[in-house]
Amino acid sequence: MHEAMLYDRLPGSRVRCNICQWRCTIGPGKLGVCRMRQNIDGTLYTLNYAEVSSAAVDPIEKKPLFHFFPASTVFSLGTWGCNFRCRDCQNWQISQATLSDLERGSQRLSPEESIELIKRYNCQGIAWTYNEPSIWFEYTLDGAKLAKANNLYTVYVTNGYITEEALDEIGPYLDAYRVDVKGFTDALYRDLAKVHRWRGILDVAKRAKERWDMHVEVVTNIVPTMNDDDEQLEGIATWIRDELGELTPWHVTRFYPQYEMRHLPPTPLSTLEHAYEIGRRVGLRFVYLGNVPGHESENTTCYSCGNLIVQRIGYETRILGLDGSRCRFCGAELDIKTAPWR
Ligand code: SF4
Repeated sequence: MHEAMLYDRLPGSRVRCNICQWRCTIGPGKLGVCRMRQNIDGTLYTLNYAEVSSAAVDPIEKKPLFHFFPASTVFSLGTWGCNFRCRDCQNWQISQATLSDLERGSQRLSPEESIELIKRYNCQGIAWTYNEPSIWFEYTLDGAKLAKANNLYTVYVTNGYITEEALDEIGPYLDAYRVDVKGFTDALYRDLAKVHRWRGILDVAKRAKERWDMHVEVVTNIVPTMNDDDEQLEGIATWIRDELGELTPWHVTRFYPQYEMRHLPPTPLSTLEHAYEIGRRVGLRFVYLGNVPGHESENTTCYSCGNLIVQRIGYETRILGLDGSRCRFCGAELDIKTAPWR
């Protein structure tokens, strides 16, 4: 077991965890909401440090990140547990895991070993993904420091519920922040993710970009009857434009029935295309449809001259028109990160 970071000791051997916005107060012997942090005699321990549920070599486009080292490969790691209870979760077997699931199915991988694997598989960076990365914050921090020392890029694929102080710890070592914004009302977050106070997600995403200069992309998985109305979609798109900037990619992805939402149909293509239109009408330069292989909106087209910049067919990516971060044809700034950039 590994002692946790960023917690307060409270009277009566209780502790308060400050890794995510739940800020759980945890009594002796008890676990936090994520089920992966335990108070033992007044000391908070993380139970999943270096405990890996899933590891893979992925195209960076699979995260999805479309404007961050396009066509590179990323070593992807996930652990067990989550601080959300999303009813549409694609990875619920690991995100909703208990300690006994971890004990049955886990593989230990130290931060040093993860760097060795990145090099062996010739990846350009590392992503903590598949479940919420802040749930094993201390491990991702150690891994991120090592990755930067080895000239590798680092990525969080996150629900965005990390606190500002945890973000500030890892900020110097984290390059990309791929954040879900699931909707834009209290009711949506309460019904879909069982989270009551969600607006801090927006503040922390803005801080990732402004204070730490991270590359930020936003994903909204559109679930029929849940977050497919114009109020949600316009709210998200307008917030991205105003707070992250019009060049920030917005991925609107197709939901497939799973976990507690098997009774709903997959998202109709017309709904995704409507979301695309809303994003473009609001002023976002780059809106992408996800989980719709072969759709032309997977490509990056220059908003200024209309030329094809990056072609994507499934996970086949061809860079056709980049000069650094700019359009090779007209010079427009596209804010696409390519090596070397940091
Ligand atoms: S990481 Fe979040 S959910 Fe887990 S114990 Fe800390 S505050 Fe609670």
